[in-house]
Amino acid sequence: MAGRTLDDAIEVVKSLNAEGIRVTLDRLGESVLDKSLVDETVNEYLKILDVLKGTNNSVAVKPTSVGLDISREVALDNFRKLLQKGDFIEIDMEASRYVNDTLWIYRKLKEEFPDRKIAVAIQAYLYRSEQDVKDLTDLKPCIRLVKGAYKEPRDVAIQNKKKVDENYVKLLFYLLENIPYTLVATHDEKIINRMLRFIRERKIPTERFEFQFLYGIKGNLLRKLKGEGFNTGMYVPYGTHWYPYFMRRLAERPANVWFVFKNLFG
Ligand code: FAD
Repeated sequence: MAGRTLDDAIEVVKSLNAEGIRVTLDRLGESVLDKSLVDETVNEYLKILDVLKGTNNSVAVKPTSVGLDISREVALDNFRKLLQKGDFIEIDMEASRYVNDTLWIYRKLKEEFPDRKIAVAIQAYLYRSEQDVKDLTDLKPCIRLVKGAYKEPRDVAIQNKKKVDENYVKLLFYLLENIPYTLVATHDEKIINRMLRFIRERKIPTERFEFQFLYGIKGNLLRKLKGEGFNTGMYVPYGTHWYPYFMRRLAERPANVWFVFKNLFG
């Protein structure tokens, strides 16, 4: 985590940008039902977008932090406000019950703001994702491909890690060949190496993708990829609503209990 305040986060943005690493800033928070808290979140994002204006950095926004639990129309309206101000917005993907509405919002935004950079995350553990990426292709989307971080039932999501990895590779290869820009959001070195072979064989230009890691995880590998000439980005969360974010990181890797303490108290 990049600290509790926007000022803390901006310091991290500056130092990563100085290394040539793009930043996606995430203001921690999700599942907001109270309209005044939703407004507060939107106002904070508007402030961030002001600060980031004219840079290549972006913000990541969870639809439930800007009102999806109230209604999809409220969330859509808030995304519109952000896009009127911001140059580059990434929409995180949350639990599977939100996928339909999130993709509905994404399609509306792409139609209304065809010239803006708008990305949406797709989760490789979901059975539906193969069809979703095919359905999105006509929008010339920017997609952040992730494995998926939520506990999902077995009729919705692949439970076996190896099979999730296989599906990740399958979707990744499709995206690299069929959409304008892919955010390759995994720290999995085996998958990254397979992808590097694939792009060499298929002559996929490096302008068509970016490696994106979570701040605090495998930074050396990301810097190595940067040194080899690839686009790189870091997803940097900040703020005080850290609990769900850290519980997901802990679920991925129990050893992260130290990562949690270091970030909270370090
Ligand atoms: P894994 O197979 O889990 O890990 C590969 C290797 O990476 C591990 O062996 C380990 O060395 C290292 N590693 C992975 N995770 C950790 C960790 N937490 N701590 C320390 N080392 C670790 N998920 C969503 O559901 N929706 C989103 O919108 C979303 N956005 C994301 C954005 C970015 C930029 C990234 C990188 C991830 C995002 N995720 C999101 C989380 C993602 O779904 C995975 O849960 C997470 O990235 C771990 O999977 P992995 O691909 O790194 O592979």
